[in-house]
Amino acid sequence: MSSLKSIKSRILIFTIMVTLIPSLGLGLFSFRQNDALITDNVTHQLRTLASDASRELARWIVERVQGVRALAGSDAVIDGLSHRAAPRSGSAAEHAQTLTQYLRAVQEKLDPFLELTVLDPAGQVVASSASAPALPVMRQNWPPVAASEGLVIVPPHWDEKYATATLTVAVPVLSMDNRILGVLAAVLDLRPAQPLLKYTTSSIPGEVVILDQAGRPLLSTYHTTSPLTPIDSQLLRELREDAGKPRSFTGFGGHTVLGLVEIPRDLAFVVLVERNRVEVYQAWVVFRDLFVTLVISISLLVGFFTWRMGRSIVTPLKRLTAAADRIAAGDLTVQLPVAQDDEIGHLTRVFNRMTDDLRHSHEEFEAASRALQKQNALLETLSITDSLTGLFNRKKLDDILADQFERFKRNQRVFTVLMLDIDHFKALNDTHGHLAGDQVLVNVAAILTKSIRSVDYAARYGGEEFVIVLPETNNTAALEMAERIRDRVQSATYQFDGRVTISIGVAHSRPGDATADAVVARADQELYAAKRAGRNRVHSAT
Ligand code: GH3
Ligand code: MG
Ligand code: MG
Repeated sequence: MSSLKSIKSRILIFTIMVTLIPSLGLGLFSFRQNDALITDNVTHQLRTLASDASRELARWIVERVQGVRALAGSDAVIDGLSHRAAPRSGSAAEHAQTLTQYLRAVQEKLDPFLELTVLDPAGQVVASSASAPALPVMRQNWPPVAASEGLVIVPPHWDEKYATATLTVAVPVLSMDNRILGVLAAVLDLRPAQPLLKYTTSSIPGEVVILDQAGRPLLSTYHTTSPLTPIDSQLLRELREDAGKPRSFTGFGGHTVLGLVEIPRDLAFVVLVERNRVEVYQAWVVFRDLFVTLVISISLLVGFFTWRMGRSIVTPLKRLTAAADRIAAGDLTVQLPVAQDDEIGHLTRVFNRMTDDLRHSHEEFEAASRALQKQNALLETLSITDSLTGLFNRKKLDDILADQFERFKRNQRVFTVLMLDIDHFKALNDTHGHLAGDQVLVNVAAILTKSIRSVDYAARYGGEEFVIVLPETNNTAALEMAERIRDRVQSATYQFDGRVTISIGVAHSRPGDATADAVVARADQELYAAKRAGRNRVHSAT
């Protein structure tokens, strides 16, 4: 029986499927829901973080520009440029020298300023805190906000000279009567803005990286001394195309993150926020592991109990089948133990009862059959036996003769027939009575039985006549036997206390004989010859 076809495995498979399919389906559904929920949640958090960070950074820059504007309105700057427009006292070089010293003093005091440079309306450097100032590109048409809010004229980028991220802002220097005297340009170091970014990540988990347009990291919440490696341009393009949508990629920390970018409208930089994916899905993973463990445990438990149940059904069934096989093979001694009190127990009890009934019927049948056999054997014996003498009867004698004649015809095995007749038996009957006559018949029969070999046959031919058939016997041996019999009969003692003699005719089969009767007839003739010759003798046909 293949294992899949067995009842036990079918029950096991069915139960495990019934357990697994709903729990896995439910698990899958809940995983998907959970996954969507977590992704939504993280997306929302990342977006908030990105907009917080970009707002904080923009505010920081606006505050720095205000500082520059305040500086542009300072007497020292206005004086320096007014003098250039309308020279009064002192040389131009002296005034420039004074302004330079002022700018240097301010730059040293204020952290984010790396360079402060004053230019005249034509774009010529008047004074600068740097010895080789980076010359900003001057604009011909200042937008209206420039006077009040200043202008970022070089967007955030990596400054090789200062080895930091910088941006350059410019504000016009105005005279009392609002004439443009020149421009104050300031190169700002972005590093002091880092605590602000860190502050945004204190309430929302994640990391913020400010990138320039080419994807080079300018500022980040990561604690590193060396600058971060630029982001892959292809990835940046994709992130920018799907700004605000989270993606999975290898983050700046080296591990897989969920991240998105935001591009602030006014400032030419990119805010990238990211969060460790493992961290995001940690709770989810714990939940999943717990679920898988639970499902496996339940399946094992269910499997074990089903296996036990299957066994409790299949084992008695196997026992029943084996018992049925034994009965089919003829063993009716089978008795099964009844261990259960359920349908199988009932079946087993019924089976035992049926076996009992079958055994009883079988025993009765066997006994009847034996009796019948005995009866048949008896009948068989009776049917071939002469009731008085116990010798074969005439009917059996005919069969024996026919059989011997058949052998003689087939194999030329000569057989001999002795025909015996008690002498003057009528007189014996008349003198001593029929019972004495019967006793003589019995005694003579006993002498015949004792005198022949085991292969010979003795039969009562009728009345006081007997026939002996000697298979494969030659004439001499047959005559010897006849003589012996004759002698024994006359020497024996009888109840009636007198002498009994017999006459015997002997004949053997000849090739010309048509039936066994021909041999018997010859023996009969010899018997009559013996009678005629004076009785108590043996005559043989030569
Ligand atoms: P013999 O053969 O010598 O010529 O004379 P016999 O008297 O024997 O011959 P017969 O054939 O005339 O007599 C046979 C007798 O045997 C006749 C019958 O009464 C008797 N007889 C036949 N069968 C039985 C039997 O079963 N019991 C008894 N007691 N006598 C029987
Ligand atoms: Mg006779
Ligand atoms: Mg006689």
